[in-house]
Amino acid sequence: MNASAFPADLVRDVARRRTFAIISHPDAGKTTLTEKLLLFGGAIQMAGTVKARKSSRHATSDWMEVEKQRGISVTSSVMQFDYLGHTVNLLDTPGHEDFSEDTYRVLTAVDAAVMVIDAAKGVEAQTIKLLEVCRLRATPIITFVNKLDREVREPVALLEEIEAVLNIDCAPITWPIGMGKAFRGVFHLLHDRLLRFTPGEERRSADSEVIAGLANPQLDRLFPDEVGALRRDVELIRGASTPFDLDLFLAGEQSPVFFGSGINNFGVQEILQALVEWAPPPQPRDGGSRVVRPAEGSFSGFVFKIQANMDLKHRDRIAFFRVCSGRYQPGMKVHHARIGRGMKLGNVHTFMANERVKSEDAVAGDIIGIHNHGQLQIGDTLTEGEALGFKGIPYFAPELFRLARPRDPFKAKQLQKGLRELGEEGAIQVFDSGSGNALLLGAVGSLQFEIVVQRLQSEYKVDAVYDTTNIFAARWLTFPDEAARRGFEKENAPNLARDVDDNPVYLAPNKYNLQLTMERWPKVGFHTTREHGQRLAHGLPSEASAAFETGRRSVEQGPVYGMRP
Ligand code: GDP
Repeated sequence: MNASAFPADLVRDVARRRTFAIISHPDAGKTTLTEKLLLFGGAIQMAGTVKARKSSRHATSDWMEVEKQRGISVTSSVMQFDYLGHTVNLLDTPGHEDFSEDTYRVLTAVDAAVMVIDAAKGVEAQTIKLLEVCRLRATPIITFVNKLDREVREPVALLEEIEAVLNIDCAPITWPIGMGKAFRGVFHLLHDRLLRFTPGEERRSADSEVIAGLANPQLDRLFPDEVGALRRDVELIRGASTPFDLDLFLAGEQSPVFFGSGINNFGVQEILQALVEWAPPPQPRDGGSRVVRPAEGSFSGFVFKIQANMDLKHRDRIAFFRVCSGRYQPGMKVHHARIGRGMKLGNVHTFMANERVKSEDAVAGDIIGIHNHGQLQIGDTLTEGEALGFKGIPYFAPELFRLARPRDPFKAKQLQKGLRELGEEGAIQVFDSGSGNALLLGAVGSLQFEIVVQRLQSEYKVDAVYDTTNIFAARWLTFPDEAARRGFEKENAPNLARDVDDNPVYLAPNKYNLQLTMERWPKVGFHTTREHGQRLAHGLPSEASAAFETGRRSVEQGPVYGMRP
């Protein structure tokens, strides 16, 4: 379709959308930055709102014991606000103990990410994992190096670490002047001006005092002791660092880097500015049979997360749905591509920064919450009639495993039903490892098991026993031909299982075993992701399996989700 054929109102509204997530290791400052972004975006009036919710969610939500204990809340999953004529959608990536597959899947629904690094700690484990997932779709990354008001590591060393560990080029946009007690601010390399840091100031506006030009005599007056080093550092970094390149950023190959202190409101404005100026609006997406453009008139999108809702009696669920094209209108009829049936979108919400409201209007990039009774699963596509199926919302190979069996053997059926339904919701992955009544559960975060235990008890009345297993990793398998499949299955029978869609999975007891098996069977594919609803025809090549990543990287590199479209 020719771009001029797109409805003008959609072209305009889509261009204004910015949909992103913040990725970080726990305690790097994600909550603080979220709050400041909302504050400067005018979405909340008072600092402390998000934080207060973080600690008081305990008291306010009551739909489930685990939610009470852990403080997970549905209301904070998506936050929409307007900034400088743009509609910004900030998606929360559950972290800390509530790290789960949802954390990964949220990243399939964004167009950009802000990576927060604690300047004292550098690149940490969870940041590495989350960035790997962003890599699947070459998501553009903006980096915020936080906590410069503390004694931290040298900025040059931090950039080197980010480049080496995360394998992404860094282009500093601001450069810090001092740190800790001697933190004076940042020099904006593109705007050629110093933004002065004044500690402990709780300002509503994010405007810092600005001193234009490196040669400005005001700098000599204000910072007589530091000005020499400041000029030398800025000249040096200007000469030695990679210049910012918008195209490389959009290709996910280069990250613009900002230094600041979230808690002191310092450097936050620059992040918002980068989001609206540089981060991409909603992009075309692979709809299976064709590429779907965001300003097309016909409505489409996919479910990337399911949240069980408050009302236990009705098994009510909210499907988090990313609009990919067209415009949502209240009460519209859509086509549910997987089951090939119509569906009326009746009860749909938009998530604002601190409230949930009925959706009146949503375009590509927006997230709407669709209430349903189980018709919608993760990865499902809705359209206005066309048979599309959006790609790139995968299952991720679990990293934690438990064997579940019913305490009362007569409840085996009940357990299977419960686990199957929870599996469909994406709460947990379920495998059949051929060990009698016991089903193998896989997760990427340990809270997933706790949620399953609680929900099996309260919703399915099954008391299950969970045994630990000696499984290190799971990999989905593809075989070059029938003979290879038979040979592999014969030799590795004790290590094989099937997922809910009957796809073969290899369970490795340790990383050496995985490495050795991969070496012994060089033609067999060992995959760390699988598309939702994808059946592999017993692991034999089929059209569907072409979507698998084929890279065979060493296991030392940890989980790899390399499946760039
Ligand atoms: P999250 O776990 O990534 O959401 O991190 P939080 O936003 O909860 O922050 C973790 C801790 O770091 C909290 O005690 C914050 O007050 C603190 N923190 C966040 N930003 C800064 C900062 O810029 N400077 C300092 N010194 N502490 C910060």
